Amino acid sequence: MVCMDVIKTSGVVIRRTKVKDNDLMLTIFTKDMGVIRASARGARGFKNKLSAGTALFAYSEFLLYPGKEVYKVNGCELLESFYSLTSNIERLAFATYIADLTGYVIQEEAETERLLSLFLNTFYLFAHWGGELRTVKCVYELKLLEFLGFAPCVTECVACGNEETAFFSPAEGGTLCADCRQELSSGREISESCLSAMRYVLSSEDKKAFAFRLSEVVLEEMESFVSGMISECIDHDFYSLTYLNTILGK
Ligand SMILES: [Zn+2]
Repeated sequence: MVCMDVIKTSGVVIRRTKVKDNDLMLTIFTKDMGVIRASARGARGFKNKLSAGTALFAYSEFLLYPGKEVYKVNGCELLESFYSLTSNIERLAFATYIADLTGYVIQEEAETERLLSLFLNTFYLFAHWGGELRTVKCVYELKLLEFLGFAPCVTECVACGNEETAFFSPAEGGTLCADCRQELSSGREISESCLSAMRYVLSSEDKKAFAFRLSEVVLEEMESFVSGMISECIDHDFYSLTYLNTILGK
């Protein structure tokens, strides 16, 4: 049966909860409807037509009916499974945190096509890339902050506009000159390499934003400033982040 108000959209299953019998409750990060919740009846059943497309982290095209409280999945076609994420505990932990973070900050009906595309690039790297995944996480977090309107100021002193900036303060939302740092007594010294990396990420197109490498020292510095910004702007403790840090030995 084809109903008039059936909605077709693509998205990633970012959370998947088992409900009674063979049913699932899904949280889907969609291309054009933000983050939504949808029920999928019978999807846990072996050979069910919905099972492949409703797996955790599956990127699928969905046919949805609006329900009273949540959408109902009427059909779905798997586009990309990101299956290799589930075969490696570290890759899975990175993906779970990024999915949690995104699901927490993105509302229903947000305009999210650009962010979904960045999210898919990030997931692709988490699933397949042989490089340092902590860099990928930092880039996504910075770009997410930018998407939310919380991008740190990295081109001048956030307090006075001075272009000589050797300090960074997550609480003030960006770089500081020596005078403002002293006056505000906030922030720490930032290296030229770390500042260049943050400027690069915030000024490049999404697809090119991952194309750089950092030394371990500079990466640690960037992680600390970016996670400081995330804590300032998004006041929430993510269990998945604590878990990821445990796996990484932090
Ligand atoms: Zn200043």
